[in-house]
Amino acid sequence: MPFPIKICAICSEEFELRPDKPGFANRCPKCSEPEEAEDSPEDHVDVVQRKAEQEMNAARRRAIRDLLYRKDR
Ligand SMILES: [Zn+2]
Repeated sequence: MPFPIKICAICSEEFELRPDKPGFANRCPKCSEPEEAEDSPEDHVDVVQRKAEQEMNAARRRAIRDLLYRKDR
């Protein structure tokens, strides 16, 4: 059974609308991919930045704890 042929809303190319096609139903697979790729670098920067902040906070907390610990002794 053939898949229905759709016209991409972005590049106006014909493409087969497969049930398992990722992305929007009115976009060809090629035009669905770049948008997903654009999102990930931002997410990656976010994750890296958040992790760096967490590590900085953890290190600061550890340093303060060490100071207090030493003072108690
Ligand atoms: Zn397209």
